[in-house]
Amino acid sequence: MTMPTYLGMPSFPEAARKAVADTRLRGNLAHATGTIRDRRAKAVAELDDWLELRESAKQIKDHTLAHLGHYLRLLEEKVTAAGGTVHWARDADEANALITRLVRETGETEVVKVKSMATQEIGLNEALAKAGIAAYETDLAELIVQLGHDRPSHILVPAIHKNRAEIREIFRREMPSAPEDLTDDPSALADAARLHLRERFLAAKVAVSGANFAIAETGTVLVVESEGNGRMCLTLPETLITVMGIEKVLPTVRDLEVFLQVLPRSSTAERMNPYTSAWTGVYEGDGPRNFHLVLLDNGRTRVRDDEIGRQALRCIRCSACLNVCPVYARAGGHAYGSPYPGPIGAILSPQLRGIGSEVDASLPFASSLCGACYEVCPVAIDIPEVLVHLRAEVVKKPVERMVMGAAGWALRSPVRLKAAQRAASAGRGFARRLRYPRAWADTRDLPVPPVQSFRAWWRNTHDDRT
Ligand code: SF4
Repeated sequence: MTMPTYLGMPSFPEAARKAVADTRLRGNLAHATGTIRDRRAKAVAELDDWLELRESAKQIKDHTLAHLGHYLRLLEEKVTAAGGTVHWARDADEANALITRLVRETGETEVVKVKSMATQEIGLNEALAKAGIAAYETDLAELIVQLGHDRPSHILVPAIHKNRAEIREIFRREMPSAPEDLTDDPSALADAARLHLRERFLAAKVAVSGANFAIAETGTVLVVESEGNGRMCLTLPETLITVMGIEKVLPTVRDLEVFLQVLPRSSTAERMNPYTSAWTGVYEGDGPRNFHLVLLDNGRTRVRDDEIGRQALRCIRCSACLNVCPVYARAGGHAYGSPYPGPIGAILSPQLRGIGSEVDASLPFASSLCGACYEVCPVAIDIPEVLVHLRAEVVKKPVERMVMGAAGWALRSPVRLKAAQRAASAGRGFARRLRYPRAWADTRDLPVPPVQSFRAWWRNTHDDRT
């Protein structure tokens, strides 16, 4: 069962215009984000040392990113020593081909899934479906999205755009085991989902998960969640395949002391996560017999090379920035054209995918730069700073393309080059007086062309050799 892909999505303003006109969607979003926002503020206010924790989280992430190769190699060594197998995937195609092969090798045609942003990013469900393998989401909100043939619109609550009545309709239509008299009471909906999923958990031989963290010093991988579906997927099947963005590695177990405090308070406004599953390789007679860890790059090393943009890799996907963003609250998650909506999506997607498409070039402008996202971010990502940086990249690109195109055209022909040089010399006076483009010229000196070109000087001084 697949979801629609993000390919060919319209630019943010176009998609947002439609979303803003949908009053029901705006009502659902305003109610849900407002509730989570208030609860998070209370959970954070309980800690006197919140700012210190935030600074520690930022520094641990920055240190790890600065020594990423070292920690990833250490992680590989420890996972392998504990009986797991580590695979490296450069991009989405490589990761999907690898995971498809791993599932095929088990002889199975169905997998259960724990909610995972990385697998959404690479379009794993669609790739598996093409290979005849059905992937079943087991997180309640992901299940709603999948059964509704929809796309997720929030990092933590992927079905935030749906209200209870809409969810009941989806269950009635798509879930054969749902009772005839199903109401939109939350506990009745949860019971129906539980019944539907239980069969899947018990039958599944292969599970696919993401990872919140992986510890380099021990090779331990962690998933935190609230429903217990993750625990079922991580322990019952014979084969577990975990797909993890390379930025999720942490150096030591001690680092969890910080992250297991800042993540639940920022995401679900809880003091600790109801379920924290941690495993190291495989154990005889306990849990999956085969464990594969897929380390996914998919543009991350390129992001790491950008001095300002790299802070986006600190993200722990708590979704606090979405819940405070006035633009997200009105436009909703689908307008961002990627599995990463809201402020983090506006800086992460254009960096991971590049700014070549309409939607990616529009995302850095999908913000009022109010700074609320930076205020709440538990790893202190200065999202407005990255947005401004990416806006400059988007603006620079067409101008650069135009200038380089003109230069290439002139350089391909000696006649055109000579004419261009003559025109430049003749325009010296004009260039001196040039005030525009103002924003560019305010901080730069436009070089004035020389009185004569090198060719002209050579001709005048070396008559016999021209
Ligand atoms: S950018 Fe910060 S606030 Fe937003 S999801 Fe990532 S960690 Fe959370």
